[in-house]
Amino acid sequence: MEALRDEPLWTPAVQRPRSLHEAWELKRTFGRDGVYVAGSTLLRTQWEAGTVSMPKSLIDLRGIEDLADIDEDGGGLSIGALADLSRCRRSAALGHMAPAVQEAVRCIAAPAVRNLATIGGNIASGYGDCLPALLVCDAELAVFDGKFLSRRRVEEWLADRWSGMHPQEDILTGIWLAPPAGPAGSRRIEIFRKVGRREAFTPSLVTVAIGCFIDSEGRLSGVKIAAGGGSGRPQRLDIAEAVLEGASIGKEQLASVFEAVVTQFETYGDPFATVEYKKKTAGNLIVAELWKALEGSAGKGDH
Ligand SMILES: Cc1cc2nc3c(=O)[nH]c(=O)nc-3n(C[C@H](O)[C@H](O)[C@H](O)COP(=O)(O)OP(=O)(O)OC[C@H]3O[C@@H](n4cnc5c(N)ncnc54)[C@H](O)[C@@H]3O)c2cc1C
Repeated sequence: MEALRDEPLWTPAVQRPRSLHEAWELKRTFGRDGVYVAGSTLLRTQWEAGTVSMPKSLIDLRGIEDLADIDEDGGGLSIGALADLSRCRRSAALGHMAPAVQEAVRCIAAPAVRNLATIGGNIASGYGDCLPALLVCDAELAVFDGKFLSRRRVEEWLADRWSGMHPQEDILTGIWLAPPAGPAGSRRIEIFRKVGRREAFTPSLVTVAIGCFIDSEGRLSGVKIAAGGGSGRPQRLDIAEAVLEGASIGKEQLASVFEAVVTQFETYGDPFATVEYKKKTAGNLIVAELWKALEGSAGKGDH
């Protein structure tokens, strides 16, 4: 890290491709000397901290048309990778379709940063706070590989991203959210919570997200639970999910969920919090939010 700090500063050349294909070709030509840039809010913090070196060329994606739109489409929602976080935060359609994703966006940074920061940059980092929320919404990511645009489940994309096998030239073009479909008469529960070192405007230590349906008898189905935080890998917690699938939430289930989260959640220690603290925080947040959701549904009947 010290070595990076000691590197001489230079002004990188800025490339402004007008199409996905042009951007992809530039990246292939420059290799590690060229970096895709959207809002550059994360890159700037990495350059300042000296964790990433300034590249020779920046490939600015913002000149590519139609990548910033948020459109309702065939009952689902398509969000362009270049949609800024302020826009995502204001989108009524996103709030309706995926409230956990909107809450994640709401908790990121301050307005000045959110006006520049894009949802695509948040995801492309591999650890942005939106990712646990996207995991519980079964989101798909649209990716351009130089020839084709394909859609991949966020979970598969994350596995590649963290395996190191992910092609560096791939461009994330958008997010697709299908309308959540649960059993007849059930109600959708979707939650995102973040814990940081301060109440607001702070990087996350731990984030959790929950998505499920609850029927009139209090039984849960389609349970998805995810956790992440900081620069840790966002992940599904399928042992805790299995405890809840088909069950009615009671104190017994909640104790098992807590244990399952603490056992399965893979995280890392940092100068502000130990691994143990983060695991317990994730367990407590998930249990507390499920308990609140249960209380909220008591006596509500069918919807
Ligand atoms: C004060 C401050 C507070 C912050 N707080 C938070 C927080 O609470 N939670 C959080 O998650 N983040 C936080 N961030 C980080 C950052 O603002 C967000 O993650 C933001 O969404 C990143 O988007 P961007 O457009 O600025 O990405 P950029 O910085 O432009 O890019 C980020 C990375 O993604 C790549 N990239 C960008 N777009 C694409 C694309 N379409 N296809 C392929 N690769 C791409 C870039 O090459 C780079 O590696 C904070 C930043 C600051 C400065």
